Amino acid sequence: MRKIPATLINVFFVGLLAACSHAPTTPAASATTSVTPSIPVAPAAAPTVILISVDGLRATTVGTGMMPALDAMAASGVRAASLTPSYPTQTFPNHYTLVTGLRPDHHGVVHNTMRDAAMGKFVSKGETALDGRWWGGEPIWATLQKQGGIAATMFWPGSEAEIAGQRPRYYMNYDKQMPSNARVDQVLAWMDLPAAEQPRLITLYFESYDVAAHATGADSAASNAALKEVDAALARLRDGLRARGREASTNVILVSDHGMLTVRGQDVRYLDELVPANTFAAVHVGTLAGLNPKPGHVQQVEKALIGRHDHFECWRKQDLPARWHYGKHPRVPAILCHADPGWRVLMHGMPASTAQRGEHGYAPDVPDMAATFVATGPDFVRGTQLPAFDNVDVYPLLARLLRITPAANDGTLEPLLPALRDATP
Ligand code: AMP
Ligand code: ZN
Ligand code: ZN
Repeated sequence: MRKIPATLINVFFVGLLAACSHAPTTPAASATTSVTPSIPVAPAAAPTVILISVDGLRATTVGTGMMPALDAMAASGVRAASLTPSYPTQTFPNHYTLVTGLRPDHHGVVHNTMRDAAMGKFVSKGETALDGRWWGGEPIWATLQKQGGIAATMFWPGSEAEIAGQRPRYYMNYDKQMPSNARVDQVLAWMDLPAAEQPRLITLYFESYDVAAHATGADSAASNAALKEVDAALARLRDGLRARGREASTNVILVSDHGMLTVRGQDVRYLDELVPANTFAAVHVGTLAGLNPKPGHVQQVEKALIGRHDHFECWRKQDLPARWHYGKHPRVPAILCHADPGWRVLMHGMPASTAQRGEHGYAPDVPDMAATFVATGPDFVRGTQLPAFDNVDVYPLLARLLRITPAANDGTLEPLLPALRDATP
């Protein structure tokens, strides 16, 4: 895997620009040399957009005083009652929904662990995440760059793959050891680049709460310490913007991918206690188990599993509740077994940590799965409280803030209009 510190990426690009006598001087100038001159040109004067994700951050944490910098951000801008995650409430599907505006069924990253008939297995924490063929649709950084802008990603699922013919101009290979403050410093370093090389969109990702909460529970001392650590990084970003006089020209949006629920190790059910393990192949287990019956065993497996069980329920993929917008993509396994809040559906002998004390993956309407939306900056109406809205709506918002034309998506700007200074639909 390539490990390129972003500072080196910057040096490379700055050097490259200096070396090319015909190098574009502004993003708009680069668009004028494009082979498709009719595409709209992203105006360079628009505010910079920073999209932050705090993995697993529940909507209910905002305003509690646990994260003072986040609370101050909400007070100075916009806060939604919550951001409704897409199904399944997992990291990769939802992060990619946030940047494409597409439901997982439509962008194809249907789970952190997937099986594709042609490509084989995908695991979120492996090399497969770098293969663009897994990632459908068009992430916002691709939309921006196609329209003449520059994007940078301080981590984001999908950002290391070439998608829709694009990679973010500046991106980082995922390294969970990179301290939160160092991530913020990288964002600020990008903002210090000469105007012609500066990104107009920057993503920033923090996983420390998700990691601590899985290990120790959603409200443990360690998880609260992780929230404090992330909040200190948010304060560092705010102070960095302020020191540069950039607060008034930067829109900052903070979201999470899903919430978090404390679980007990003993609250598990085993699929192979209902039907023999050799009759099906499980693609993933946990809060959501997905499996394919083996040839000749379809009826047997369906008879044993489809329907309501003690603490979980199984459906054929085509029969899932319509409100989940899930089950049409070929990568979704034939049968899905969905655990009740607090429970997990496992298989003996399949790796799954019963030691985990925090989980997500439950239904999007389970209150603790509700995700966070807070935004501040020149394009937002100070002090707006929005009702809950779907996370597919974040992509059209980003496109509006970047003054670019969004690609086709499942979202709508409608719920955000009361929060925008320019509320033209
Ligand atoms: P999960 O809790 O299984 O849904 O996944 C969350 C974990 O995904 C985080 O704790 C990170 O370690 C990992 N993760 C987040 N972003 C990335 C990324 N861009 N590449 C690889 N792993 C990631
Ligand atoms: Zn997550
Ligand atoms: Zn997680």
